[in-house]
Amino acid sequence: MDNLLEVKNLKTYFYTEDGVVPAVNGVDFTLKPGQTLGIVGESGCGKSITSMSIMRLIPTPPGKIIDGEIIFDNKDLLAISELEMRRIRGNDIAMIFQEPMTSLNPVYTIGSQIMEAVMLHQKLNKNKAQEKCIEMLELVGIPRAAEVVNDYPHQFSGGMRQRVMIAMALSCNPKLLIADEPTTALDVTIQAQILELMKGLKEKLNTATMLITHDLGVVAETADHVIVMYAGRVVEEANVMDIFEDPKHPYTIGLLNSKPSIDKKSQRLEVIQGSVPNPLAMPVGCAFHPRCSQVMDICTEKVPDLVHYTEERKVRCWLFHNSHGEESE
Ligand code: SF4
Ligand code: MG
Repeated sequence: MDNLLEVKNLKTYFYTEDGVVPAVNGVDFTLKPGQTLGIVGESGCGKSITSMSIMRLIPTPPGKIIDGEIIFDNKDLLAISELEMRRIRGNDIAMIFQEPMTSLNPVYTIGSQIMEAVMLHQKLNKNKAQEKCIEMLELVGIPRAAEVVNDYPHQFSGGMRQRVMIAMALSCNPKLLIADEPTTALDVTIQAQILELMKGLKEKLNTATMLITHDLGVVAETADHVIVMYAGRVVEEANVMDIFEDPKHPYTIGLLNSKPSIDKKSQRLEVIQGSVPNPLAMPVGCAFHPRCSQVMDICTEKVPDLVHYTEERKVRCWLFHNSHGEESE
């Protein structure tokens, strides 16, 4: 199957008064149609900047995509015109965010906002657009859809607003949905309901999804494939089962251990020691080395490559290079 999205050696830097921040520093991944890719990492690891780069929404200056390719549906998004990009945004690629209130306009009814998106991108007349709008609200499990189209965003609960956002994002039948922390602002029960909804929609619509989260639990529920990011780089890539059952990178292992789980209730949570590095003063070598319990000399000198651990899996750590200093393939 052809890839829907190929991100190759993406580098997005920010040029600040205090120096250069390599927010995304050579990221590679692919996404197939219908696949859900989880992108996991702590805040500041570059996961949101990666998705903003794909949407070409990096504020320039201070940000700039300085290298790489983003091939979406056989087009290099970094080479097309802004006009063409605008057509792709919202139409072929849709996005949902953590706080739906910031992306919904408080002064318009949700019906008019979804209809506007549908009419703009799908060239439907008003009646057809209204039908589509109600159909989408029903699809995301909003009760009494035909009535609530006339309600304003503040009349919905946080969970219902996120459903409205998902309806709006999917109303144009995008090939790719980028969901950036879609459940982070919601309480745990509502979070579970939204994840359940996203899983159901994935089966129904087969939309490829990039799911960006700091929470491995969210990924376990919804993703097929996972990349773990640290300090602007991918440090591990695997299918979701392997990440949970047999994590390889010390950072991934740390993330899993710091996740509360029911069967470990009695155990004290092991939190990764130290904190994320200052992006203006990245550690030399492996950026994780100041926090790693398995650090070796070479880790403080050279950045390890992202190498295949198996055919399917990749890891960026000197523990998995055949001999230190040499790349294993
Ligand atoms: Fe730890 Fe070294 Fe692997 Fe980095 S490269 S994660 S410091 S063992
Ligand atoms: Mg973010």
